[in-house]
Amino acid sequence: MSSIFTKIIQREIPADIVYEDDLCLAFRDIAPKAPTHILVIPKKEIVSLADLTDEDETIVGRCIMAVHKVAAAEGLNGGYRLICNCGDDGGQEVPHLHFHVMGGRQMKWPPG
Ligand code: 5GP
Repeated sequence: MSSIFTKIIQREIPADIVYEDDLCLAFRDIAPKAPTHILVIPKKEIVSLADLTDEDETIVGRCIMAVHKVAAAEGLNGGYRLICNCGDDGGQEVPHLHFHVMGGRQMKWPPG
């Protein structure tokens, strides 16, 4: 299923891209909920964590490494939060797997 994130990958709509490799893309969230709020996504159209197959292991690992690199590049040395909303109950709105990297302020627990 294609989503708005496919259009960002294909440069059909603009985004503030902060990291890219052959498997992943990272860009700033259009409606940031923290001083730093970046989305890390696989370039492959995977709807959610619930849709992963064994062949996606390398992609997911690369995405987590991209999270690590983006957080370091953003100077989130005091820590940050990594969120992946999965499905309706998880509050996922865009049907393309993505990891929210959020930092630059003190995070609260538990999230809503
Ligand atoms: P979800 O609720 O699916 O976990 O999060 C989707 C996120 O994508 C939201 O934080 C929302 O602000 C962001 N988003 C939705 N559409 C766009 C867009 O066109 N560009 C960017 N950069 N972010 C978007």
